[in-house]
Amino acid sequence: MSDKPHSFDTLAVHAGAAPDPATGARITPIYQTTAFAFNDADHAARLFGLQEFGNIYTRIMNPTQDVLEKRVAALEGGTAALAAASGHGAQLLVLHNLMQPGTEIIAARQLYGGSVNQLGHSIKNFGWSVKWADVEDPASFEALVNDNTRAIFIESIANPAGLVTDIEAIARVAEQAGVPLIVDNTMATPYLCRPFDHGANIITHSLTKFLGGHGNSMGGILIDGGNFDWMASDKFPMLSQPNDSYHGMVIGDVFGEAFGHIAFAIAARVLSLRDLGPCIAPMNAFLILNGIETLPLRMQRHCENALTVAKWLDADDRIDWVSYAGLPGSANNALAQKYTPKGPGSVFSFGLKDGFESGKKLVNNVKLFTHLANLGDTRSLIIHPASTTHSQLDEDALKKAGAGPEVIRVSVGIEDASDLIADIDQALG
Ligand SMILES: *Cc1c(COP(=O)(O)O)cnc(C)c1O
Repeated sequence: MSDKPHSFDTLAVHAGAAPDPATGARITPIYQTTAFAFNDADHAARLFGLQEFGNIYTRIMNPTQDVLEKRVAALEGGTAALAAASGHGAQLLVLHNLMQPGTEIIAARQLYGGSVNQLGHSIKNFGWSVKWADVEDPASFEALVNDNTRAIFIESIANPAGLVTDIEAIARVAEQAGVPLIVDNTMATPYLCRPFDHGANIITHSLTKFLGGHGNSMGGILIDGGNFDWMASDKFPMLSQPNDSYHGMVIGDVFGEAFGHIAFAIAARVLSLRDLGPCIAPMNAFLILNGIETLPLRMQRHCENALTVAKWLDADDRIDWVSYAGLPGSANNALAQKYTPKGPGSVFSFGLKDGFESGKKLVNNVKLFTHLANLGDTRSLIIHPASTTHSQLDEDALKKAGAGPEVIRVSVGIEDASDLIADIDQALG
């Protein structure tokens, strides 16, 4: 056997997994149990004291979840990962590790609608707040940095227009500010874009989307880049200060010292997940792991189909504009070639000439596309963001988020592209 590191496609099938040591089962079993027996009293004490890692209780750790975490960490090139019940659950765990009452996050305003809600409304209850920047203008992030800033949050491919983000430019702003850059890599997946290679410090995913890939399970994950110095300032007390709830157990009680390049992922597990509780179900971890095995094959087909459909729309009279970074004429195409050379995913938006009414007609008349609020399924999906995912925004915010009344968002699946085109053609009437 050579020591050559395995390539991405091999890791997608194998990383983190081995035949089950107890039974020889080749596929990672669904460890459908809440708790795990200790070997003896000393073993139990070592596990609780974090002197030894091991299974205690499924809220904190489970062997099926563990394989999923190792696989996604390997695909992203991170040091460690922590799965959660949903993408939003993972985002909450990340923020909980970083923020204190009175602190702020700077986020791109072009985000998944649910993230606009989470950051714009719900986090206020924790005493945290958001400032919105424009993903197409890295200087707009810089202008919002102050002493209370604790993180910058962007999507690698931004919702809903499918814009590829200049991650390196925004990473420089974060580095200058001494705060981590969090990249939601859901729309790209690590197959198309690897944010740690461009300066990200923490990655989040909704596993619900392309990674699981089949629209059957909710899940989320955070990945630690192992490349941020938590001890460099007093901004992140969860990592740099002694933690009372592990008093006397962790070396020096300080996570940033004791766990070095995996400190963020460990603290997210044994502090934030332990106490907030959004753990992933073993069954969902299993289904998502199976999905990930075919991620490279699916993403190739998703991208090919998206480009074919986008080109057809672009040439059609009934369509006003198409925002797909993969189109050679797109203003965003240069960033797409840099950050997503295999293709900028399969979620993009387009505008109908006749605006709101023809948008409603289109989503009502499609037969093969499904009208629903999801993306990253093998099936093709369509939605009218202004009346659904982004309906809480006012007209100005809708426009700024790229979700005006004439906008339709599609998530192009892995069916035959000519069938997808025929379906849109008949639905446009
Ligand atoms: C779906 C999604 C989320 C939220 O994930 P859930 O699994 O639905 O909680 C976050 N970001 C992006 C880009 C998404 O598409």
